[in-house]
Amino acid sequence: MASKQGYSITTRRLRLCCRHPEWLKQTEEFYNQIVQFYYNLLLENPGLWELGSQKALRELEVLSIPGRDKRPVAFPLPWEKVPLYFRRAAANAGIAAAKSYLARREAFPGRRAQAFHSSAVFYKGMYRGFTSTEITLRVWDGDCWKWMRCRLYGKEFPDDAQLLSPSVVFEEKFIMLHVPVKEFGSDTATVKQRMVENRNLCSLQFTNTDVFAVGSVLDAQGQELAVKFWGGGKEYSHRCREILEKIEKSERSLGYEQCGSSSKRERLSQPDKPNQGRYLDQDDKPEQGGHLDQHEKPNQSADLNQSDRPNQKYWMHLKHLADFYAHQVSAEIVRFCQEQKVGVIVLPKFNENYTRYVMKSTGNWGPLHLSTRIRQYVAYKAWKVGIITIEVHAAGISSICAVCGKPVTSIDKKANEFICADGHRGNRYLNSARNLGRKCLIQFGKHVG
Ligand SMILES: [Zn+2]
Repeated sequence: MASKQGYSITTRRLRLCCRHPEWLKQTEEFYNQIVQFYYNLLLENPGLWELGSQKALRELEVLSIPGRDKRPVAFPLPWEKVPLYFRRAAANAGIAAAKSYLARREAFPGRRAQAFHSSAVFYKGMYRGFTSTEITLRVWDGDCWKWMRCRLYGKEFPDDAQLLSPSVVFEEKFIMLHVPVKEFGSDTATVKQRMVENRNLCSLQFTNTDVFAVGSVLDAQGQELAVKFWGGGKEYSHRCREILEKIEKSERSLGYEQCGSSSKRERLSQPDKPNQGRYLDQDDKPEQGGHLDQHEKPNQSADLNQSDRPNQKYWMHLKHLADFYAHQVSAEIVRFCQEQKVGVIVLPKFNENYTRYVMKSTGNWGPLHLSTRIRQYVAYKAWKVGIITIEVHAAGISSICAVCGKPVTSIDKKANEFICADGHRGNRYLNSARNLGRKCLIQFGKHVG
C-alpha cells in the first residue's frame, strides 16, 4: 500500500582537518557574539516574546538591520558585512536560547546567559563543495571572510540522504564537523494500515535476568510464529561490576569518603553517560538540535564533577559498554524481526512511577536499566528498515496466562516461571510478551484465536 515517506535525522560526526584551525575559532567567537546580541535583543523586547521563531527572527531583523531605504534602525547590529546566513544562523540560536530561558524562568529562576559557547552552524551559503571527504567553509579570520577548504574523515554519507546545515564543534582533541543527516525510511505505512494488511508483529518484554529481552512473533490472528530470547545480561552486569569495582578502588586510594551503602548508592546513581562537555538533555536523541540550548548548561555542575573525576576514564568505559550492548541487542532484535517479516514491534509501556521504582530497585548497571536505551535503538533501527514500533500499556500482561487467559496463581522468581490456575507453566517474561502482543491485536480490533 502506498503511503507517504517518513524520515529521520541523525547527527554524523566527522573529523575535520584544516590549515587554519584558529580561523574556525575566530568564526565561532564571532558567531557567539551575534548569538548574544539577538538573545539580549529578544529579551529586551517583551512584545516579541509570544511570536514564533520565524516571526521573531523577522521582527528582530527589522529592529537591527537597515532595509533598502537605509533608514536607521533602533538597535543596529554592531558589526558590518556579516554574511546573511551566518547572521541568521546565529540569530536563530539566540532566539532559541532566549525562548528557552523564558520558558524555564518561572520554574528555574536564574541569571540570563552572559556568554555563549555554541558551535557555529553553517547555513547554506556558508559552505560549498560538501562531500564526505571535504567541505569548504566560509570563515572569519579576524579581519575578513575567507573560503577555507577542510578535509573530512569519517563514514561516508548514505547515498540518498539529505545533508542539513553542519556545525563545527571543538571537541577535546579534535575539531569535528557535526552533520545532521536526513534519511528517508523505506516503509512508513501507519500501524493501523499494517494491521489492516495483517502484518506480523513482534512483542517484546525486557528483563533484569541474563535475558535482556524476549520476543514473541504473532500473526494477525494471534498465532505464534516464533520466539526468541536475547541473552548476555549476566555478562553485561558482570563487566559493569568489574569497572565499578575499579572506580571504588581508585576512589578509596584517593581518599574519597566512604559512607558505606550511601556512597555506593551515590556512585551507582551517576548519570550513565558522562558527558564530556556535551549536554545531557538533548544529545541522547537521534534528532539534531541540541546545540541551540548549549549556553544554558543546566548540567554544568555535573559536568565539572565528571571531568574533575580522576576515574573519568572508567566512567567512559561504562558508557561505552552500555552503548555497545544496547547497539548489539537492538541490532539483533531488528534483524530477527526482519527475518520474521514483522511489520510492527510492540514495546511494553509502563506508567512513570512504576518505571522509576523498578529502575531504582534494579540498579543503574543491570540489563533492565539498559532497556531504556535498547528501546530507543530498536525504534530507530527498526524504522530505518521500514518497521514501526509502538507502545502498548503493560498493565495486566504478567497476571494472566497467555495460553488460557486464566489468572497466574504463582510465580517462581528464581526460575522465572509462572503457573496459572489451569496448571499451565512457562517462562513468565515470555508469557508477558505474548499477552502484550495479543493486547495490541485486540486494541486494533483483531479477533485473536
Ligand atoms: Zn493457563
